[in-house]
Amino acid sequence: MKLIMKFGGTSVADGERISHVCNIIEKYLKQGNKVVVVVSALAGVTDQLVKACGLAGKGEKEFIKGFIEELKKRHLETCRVAVKDEGVCRLTEKTVEDTLLELENVLVGVSYLREVTPRIKDYILSFGERLSTPIVCGALNSMGVKAEWFTGKDAGIVTDSNFGGARPLMETTTHQVKARLQKVLDENITPVVTGFIAADQNGVITTLGRGGSDCTASILGVALDVDEIWIWTDVDGIMTTDPKIEPKAKVIPQISYMEAMEMAYFGAKMMHPGAIEIVMGKRIPIRVKNTFNPENPGTLISSEQKVESTSIVKAISLIRKAALITVEGAAMFGVPGTAAKIFSLLGEKNINVLMISQSSSEANISFVVPRDTLEDALSILEVKLLGGKIAREIKAEDDICVIALVGAGMVGTPGVAARVFSAVGREKINVRMIAQGSSELNISFVVKEADGERAVKALHKEFGLEK
Ligand code: ADP
Ligand code: ASP
Ligand code: MG
Repeated sequence: MKLIMKFGGTSVADGERISHVCNIIEKYLKQGNKVVVVVSALAGVTDQLVKACGLAGKGEKEFIKGFIEELKKRHLETCRVAVKDEGVCRLTEKTVEDTLLELENVLVGVSYLREVTPRIKDYILSFGERLSTPIVCGALNSMGVKAEWFTGKDAGIVTDSNFGGARPLMETTTHQVKARLQKVLDENITPVVTGFIAADQNGVITTLGRGGSDCTASILGVALDVDEIWIWTDVDGIMTTDPKIEPKAKVIPQISYMEAMEMAYFGAKMMHPGAIEIVMGKRIPIRVKNTFNPENPGTLISSEQKVESTSIVKAISLIRKAALITVEGAAMFGVPGTAAKIFSLLGEKNINVLMISQSSSEANISFVVPRDTLEDALSILEVKLLGGKIAREIKAEDDICVIALVGAGMVGTPGVAARVFSAVGREKINVRMIAQGSSELNISFVVKEADGERAVKALHKEFGLEK
């Protein structure tokens, strides 16, 4: 089989884990498979880069040396543990050091300019994968597995210039990826590609959005027309809910693209929704597997939509760190296009709207945005809507979360919503807003952040998901 294998941050968190991952890769290569490896940044590194970006943008310089030292220490240590061959190790260390020197220069530059554009941010965030991937490649080489590493750009992935959440231009990408990677595969060399990062048509580095290494796996999978895409992570597969919230969560053996996409979209960060969208049309199966329990079959995502009579709801997810905005005002009544106006304003600011609900009187529109975009959202809406007398009042709540229930079995099953809200009601949890997805594959609602986990547990029980 021709396979893509993507390893998430926790799977490559340190040298020992990288050695373990390389053993997994070697095992499947020995069985005669061709494998393209996609690698995330070491666990936590992208978050650290985001923070560093913010500090440098404020003009801070003092932290830079220490920050670079910290990254150097961790990556060199990882390198020494994972890359057993001394010569290969030295070469890999050199790559790590050169890459960190570049990062240091960039951060110093930004701290003088005191400005971080989305384009510069993507450039800075790209360093996590540019540091981890050569180590995985070095580790494979030192085991005697012929491997070559590529950045997403060098592998041929071309995107639009929507920095921070770029989308692949699949025609060009397919053409280039085929030309660059298929040749390598034919020579029995394993390509090891940075997840998350690509380049736009001008060759400027872009990122595919947080968690975007999953998208890299899908893009390469489609471009190379592989048999399956395997997403290796730190849990046994896609589960009925986040096992960190409900330890009784169970692995879902099979799920449809549509259901997985709804789950991913509604915050089950186990997978990037774009990754599913990209492969859906091509019907390439995705498997989600656990690097810590590789023999477990995991979850298969495919086009088949199995609806078992016992499972109306397949999974429940919780999106934390959300904020609810309500635009109120009689002036909106009967004025067509107010909603369109609001969402185009937010769109211009690149603010993602997670859910929308409009009251039947049309006087109010409520919607949910990621909490870290609340300030931006409010400032643009206040200027344009209050200033333009389109709305009377704008209210915000910044301590809410969204709960989403997903499952094809909900389509046409009466009374699901009633069961959801009575289960939550019994817990005395106040529901702030409700929306049913147009696909009917999900019901989602907003509660206070403090009530989120309790609501998830109550629903997990109500729909018998622990069984
Ligand atoms: P990776 O580093 O491999 O990309 P992520 O941290 O992005 O891993 O995603 C895996 C995590 O997603 C799991 O550790 C789990 O806590 C969380 N998660 C949330 N919802 C689910 C779910 N429904 N099924 C499985 N994992 C989930
Ligand atoms: N390293 C990136 C992130 O943390 C991409 C990924 O891990 O998928 O968002
Ligand atoms: Mg992820």
